[in-house]
Amino acid sequence: MCAMPQSDVDKRKQISIRGIAPVENVSNIKKTFNRHLHYTLVKDRNVATPRDYYYALAHTVRDHLTGRWIRTQQHYYEKDPKRVYYLSLEFYMGRTLSNTMVNLGIQSSCDEAMYQLGLDIEELEEIEEDAGLGNGGLGRLAACFLDSMATLGLAAYGYGIRYDYGIFAQKIDNGWQVEEPDEWLRYGNPWEKARPEYVLPVSFFGRVEEKDGKNKWVDTQVVFAMPFDSPIPGYGNNTVNTMRLWSAKAPNSFNLRFFNDGEYINAVCDRNLAENISRVLYPNDNFFEGKELRLKQEYFLVAATLQDIIRRFKSSRFGCKDPVRTSFDAFPDKVAIQLNDTHPSLAIPELMRIFVDIEGLSWEKAWELTVKTCAYTNHTVLPEALERWPTSLLERLLPRHLQIMYYINFLFLEEVKKKFPGDMDRLGRMSIVEEHGEKKINMAHLAIVGSHAINGVAAIHSEIIKKDTFHDFYEMYPDRFQNKTNGITPRRWLLLCNPGLSDVIAEKIGEDWVTDLYQLKKLKEFDSNENFLRTLIKVKQENKMKLTEYIKQEYNIDVNPASMFDIQVKRIHEYKRQLLNVMHIITLYNRIKKDPNKAFVPRTVMIGGKAAPGYHMAKLIIKLINTVANVINNDPIIGDKLKVVYLENYRVSLAEKIIPAADLSEQISTAGTEASGTGNMKFQLNGALTVGTLDGANVEMKEEMGDENIFIFGMTVEEVEALKKKGYNPKEYYESNGEIRQIMDQINNGYFNPDEPGLFRDVYNSLVYNDRFMLFADFDAYIKCQDRVSEVFKNPLQWSKMCLHNIASSGKFSSDRTISEYAKDIWGTDPSEFKLPAPHESPLNYDDSDSAQKK
Ligand SMILES: *Cc1c(COP(=O)(O)O)cnc(C)c1O
Repeated sequence: MCAMPQSDVDKRKQISIRGIAPVENVSNIKKTFNRHLHYTLVKDRNVATPRDYYYALAHTVRDHLTGRWIRTQQHYYEKDPKRVYYLSLEFYMGRTLSNTMVNLGIQSSCDEAMYQLGLDIEELEEIEEDAGLGNGGLGRLAACFLDSMATLGLAAYGYGIRYDYGIFAQKIDNGWQVEEPDEWLRYGNPWEKARPEYVLPVSFFGRVEEKDGKNKWVDTQVVFAMPFDSPIPGYGNNTVNTMRLWSAKAPNSFNLRFFNDGEYINAVCDRNLAENISRVLYPNDNFFEGKELRLKQEYFLVAATLQDIIRRFKSSRFGCKDPVRTSFDAFPDKVAIQLNDTHPSLAIPELMRIFVDIEGLSWEKAWELTVKTCAYTNHTVLPEALERWPTSLLERLLPRHLQIMYYINFLFLEEVKKKFPGDMDRLGRMSIVEEHGEKKINMAHLAIVGSHAINGVAAIHSEIIKKDTFHDFYEMYPDRFQNKTNGITPRRWLLLCNPGLSDVIAEKIGEDWVTDLYQLKKLKEFDSNENFLRTLIKVKQENKMKLTEYIKQEYNIDVNPASMFDIQVKRIHEYKRQLLNVMHIITLYNRIKKDPNKAFVPRTVMIGGKAAPGYHMAKLIIKLINTVANVINNDPIIGDKLKVVYLENYRVSLAEKIIPAADLSEQISTAGTEASGTGNMKFQLNGALTVGTLDGANVEMKEEMGDENIFIFGMTVEEVEALKKKGYNPKEYYESNGEIRQIMDQINNGYFNPDEPGLFRDVYNSLVYNDRFMLFADFDAYIKCQDRVSEVFKNPLQWSKMCLHNIASSGKFSSDRTISEYAKDIWGTDPSEFKLPAPHESPLNYDDSDSAQKK
């Protein structure tokens, strides 16, 4: 056996929840691994790199999926359950290797196999690139939902775009964000299977030809959509669903004209134009940028996906035998389409086009089927994030769809007139077509009118939608509006990322919580068990030590692992109020400087997140954080009482390292702006306490754990509204509050950056003269609340007890609960109806190389 440092042996033995590794499995994994190293990677151990070992392991683990994947899909074909299609422009998957091992229950065997081969499995896992096909919460939600849908055994599919470049890599250079392209496919993706034989055509441009009352979309330019399938394993249930991502491919006929002109080389080069559709993810979070290429992406996804859905509907077992099925009457009984925000909402006119223009259904029938099939999830109430596409752009790119949307609007407004006679203002407010200024299609209005269910993503957000954002629509269709509070998968966000905590939980209450997170409430009975509270402290301390090492290695900053780890990681956005956090940091700094000998509860404040490349203020906020950090971290008077760390390139795999080490989670958006948040839930599940506003899912977290276990501060939604109505003047706060004035003047006068004193003038002006998100109004409450946080942190047992109550109250925030509600209230599917039997396949064994011939 290979020699390994003693400490590594110990670390390996600590893993207990993953069970013991059966000798036979370990031996098979080693054989398969060696076979892949030899035949797939064409390497021997003399020349193999760590990356080769990662790929050999990935292929080995993938082999364990294949049989289950094929059998799951066969099973769906045979049983023909209702299919759920989750359409999303983003799937923020992160890494796949460890998640697959966890869900298949082969992690301990793989661990042991790699150990016996003298390899460090954690090191191999680090080689995998994140699949960063998302911006933030919305994209990660789609990924958590896929995990839960597979774990609940739903016949579900994720449909999206296979971007060549995911969310950019963030570098911090002299305090500024610099973006680098995310070439995640550079070394190949072992988890996907290309399906070039299933390419589908997608049309753009052209014109509408009307012939005897029939409309045809003609003279279009065609781009092919090539599917790439990735397996989505459920946890311990032999289910493997499919995520199908489309890649743009130029057809051979592309730019045929040039071939005739002898412009062969140019014609081949121009194929890139078509293939650019799936080149890159738009890096905006909660912001609408009306670019033509983005509209092409949205339609590309929708057009390819709907062809696939209809093909699968028609070719189903009953579809072949029963001619009724081809009549489409059963379509809404067999198909549910969930729109992740309005990004794929062109599915509504596209489904109408297919039903009416291609399948020859009446408009009325087509509309009934479309509305029954589609459902829309709203993710934000920020006006700048709502999609409104100019009709001029739609007219060029999708002329038939524009006609259809106009007609949908015409019939809808007739309906409104009937329900609210004489209310002309209402017609203007509710129109799908916005006529003031440049003519635009309001995609949220379209999605509401074309869906049988509309949901917000936390209780408070769903109420705001009904009362405010879409109030007119709520009055029109009160039964369509629902709430589905977001959730996170406990597999990735506890079992995988925090094995230490998973183990101590399993010791007390077993492992059922992995698929039934409400089980965690059993932990409450240990809230006075000092031994257990100290065990929780020990696990947290180990996680903090690990993050401390990472920070030393990555940024060469020495953080004090005994200090409070106070963490805000999320996209950088004014509404998320990273600047309020900065104001607190500067407050602490000023206090220490004023009275260096006064007792102080030490903190390490960590902030991380990407700014959209075109978002000037967000990028300036990053620079400000780094500038302040630089002064604080190098001031000997401050010492290790206070450190500020910018966590570069925040992404799923970094979240998995940071969140288990957090003491305090910052969820401080202005009440009424954060639809749900899911980062908040990850921290709660990992035993961090929250300082937060009554916004998004924070409200429900407080309800679940009780007021005494969370630090809530600031204005409520109602108070925000009232202050806006009364007239909010931040300048008054600046003038009357000495602390606010001192902080803002330090920012404005170059206290932290004497070399470039005018640098943060825009930050100063945006707060003092506008303060759209009311930081000044919440400042005092925030500082006082943070002082309470520090007081409690002085008492480790009290703190640990609160952490325990946080963990024990996080059952509601499993995405399994969220998906069960979607299934029951929106999709009409029963998760437990179809359960797959255990696999009949024998363990893979390639050692017996001529066994196939013997058979
Ligand atoms: C969960 C998650 C988010 C969402 O965080 P919020 O605090 O809810 O905005 C964003 N990015 C990554 C990488 C995540 O894992």
